[in-house]
Amino acid sequence: MGRRAGDYNHGMSRSLDNPIDPPKVTASAKAWPVERIRAEFPILATQSHGRPLVYLDNGATTQKPQAVIQAELEFYRTQNANIHRGVYELSQDATTAYEGARHKVAKFVNAAEDAEIIFTRGTTESINLVAAGFARTVLKAGDEIIVTALEHHSNIVPWQMAAEVTGAILKVVPINDAGELRMDEYAKLLSDRTKMVAVTHLSNALGTINDVNKIATLAHERGAAVLIDGAQWVAHHHTDVQAIGCDFYAFSSHKLYGPTGVGVLYGKRSWLEKLPPYQGGGDMIETVSFEKTTYAPLPNKFEAGTPNIAGGIGLAAAIDYLLAAGLDAAAAYERELITYATEKLLAVPGLRILGTAREKGSVISFVVENPPIASLDLGMALDREGIAVRTGHHCCMPLMARLSVPSTTRASFAMYNTEAEVDFLAATLTKIVTARAAAPNAVPAPAASNGTGVAFPTSAGESPDAVAEEIAEVFEFLGDKEAKGEQLLDYAKELPSNFDLLKRLTERVPGCQAQVYLLSRPSPTDAKRLEFVADADAQIVRGEIQMLQQLFSGQQAKDILAFDVNKFFTRIGLEHFLSQQRRNGLGSMIERIRTSAKKL
Ligand code: PMP
Repeated sequence: MGRRAGDYNHGMSRSLDNPIDPPKVTASAKAWPVERIRAEFPILATQSHGRPLVYLDNGATTQKPQAVIQAELEFYRTQNANIHRGVYELSQDATTAYEGARHKVAKFVNAAEDAEIIFTRGTTESINLVAAGFARTVLKAGDEIIVTALEHHSNIVPWQMAAEVTGAILKVVPINDAGELRMDEYAKLLSDRTKMVAVTHLSNALGTINDVNKIATLAHERGAAVLIDGAQWVAHHHTDVQAIGCDFYAFSSHKLYGPTGVGVLYGKRSWLEKLPPYQGGGDMIETVSFEKTTYAPLPNKFEAGTPNIAGGIGLAAAIDYLLAAGLDAAAAYERELITYATEKLLAVPGLRILGTAREKGSVISFVVENPPIASLDLGMALDREGIAVRTGHHCCMPLMARLSVPSTTRASFAMYNTEAEVDFLAATLTKIVTARAAAPNAVPAPAASNGTGVAFPTSAGESPDAVAEEIAEVFEFLGDKEAKGEQLLDYAKELPSNFDLLKRLTERVPGCQAQVYLLSRPSPTDAKRLEFVADADAQIVRGEIQMLQQLFSGQQAKDILAFDVNKFFTRIGLEHFLSQQRRNGLGSMIERIRTSAKKL
């Protein structure tokens, strides 16, 4: 079932026997007019799984107010032309609008001049632009780049790539258990070899707010440049690049209530003049001949090709909207909401919040440990109630390793979220945890006499096709996607628990948000047959494993390879599990099984 405005689906099977009343927006006692704000974001009035959408994934992207949607629409309706080139009125109007957007952004972050604002595709491209420029003109072998344990992959990998081509060395500022940077360690890492300090303003995974002023001051004392990743900051607090004193500041429009596909790099003029262009092409040149090309002045030197004109104009509309709504008032409201949410979530049994920094922004990351519930299961159970949260490593795999968790569930808030939504989240989590605690324990693994200590299941039927027929009969009888998901959870109950053993014996299957372990071997009685056993920490994935074991374990390799998995999963109505393989790993497990079968 897709999501549609006004689409209440009363008859569907529910994951919780006793549904909790969905949140209602009540008149807030506070000054912040959250009801009015919500009314300006059309998507907030839609439903998900027949329940009012509770959107708590603002760290991934924020929703867009009507004013932003309208601004993009109006551009295409009345102003669309390419910029900077046309002598005709329409092109000049478009150019004026786009350069007006640049001016607005410059004011928004308090840049010294408009030319210090480079439009990019987003935070990621902004950081890559600087890292590539540093690799070409600044970094030499033995130079050092400092990042922190809190960084998003987009503020790690571009620097690793720069280090790889130049021989520079990446150093990492560690964190304490609260998720705060160890400033003492940072001071020790700085040296005359440090050329760049690249650090997040607000951690997307833990919410930690870093003292970027101090970080910049210390870096500058050693002559290093400073780049701040402001992706999570700009929508929630005032930004003043001159007060911070940073050399570069990167952010994305789409996390600031603006459109996707556009972002910003602020750079100090002196640095932008020193760095080479990032891409070559139209609009970034002054003159071109086959002998020599000279580059356009700032900011065009860094803006090759036709940019996202409507996106830039949409971003300006988002800034206008946020400033008119009141950034200070929004920040105060969000701060109260976070305090409230922290209290409510801490009251959920078995829940632990990761990231308890004294200075914290609009992000709460947590795990449920007692009983243990994988974040993938939590995210999917919350989704069935209309609650959108993010689960996984949040593009911060080194940070997850430091925290010794494979993933977390993250609720990230914006100015349109309400206490009622927080209540609904906390109550739904409590129900999920209570239901899991009451569920019977997993089936114990059967005793195995072979060397590994794991019992390998043998064929559940004559051939994969024969087993598929039986499974399909069950699924064809079930109604909607939700009932089919429930069936998978029922299968999970039949899967013997081998997780700890397999974890010791084999490598994790990559490509899955959950932890999945799979061990295979040729059958001891027929070397042309493949046997395998697998387990995972997420129930939904355990259900998939149970189905895969029934289908394939103990079958002839040639029959496994001949089986059309896409056709089968489409037939039973679970094709979306395959197309979203990044999330649940079904695709990765099938890949692993097929690869093993090919070797027999
Ligand atoms: N840095 C941080 C801290 C982020 O949260 C994100 C987005 N999750 C990024 C960088 C990358 O932003 P984008 O995908 O918009 O380029």
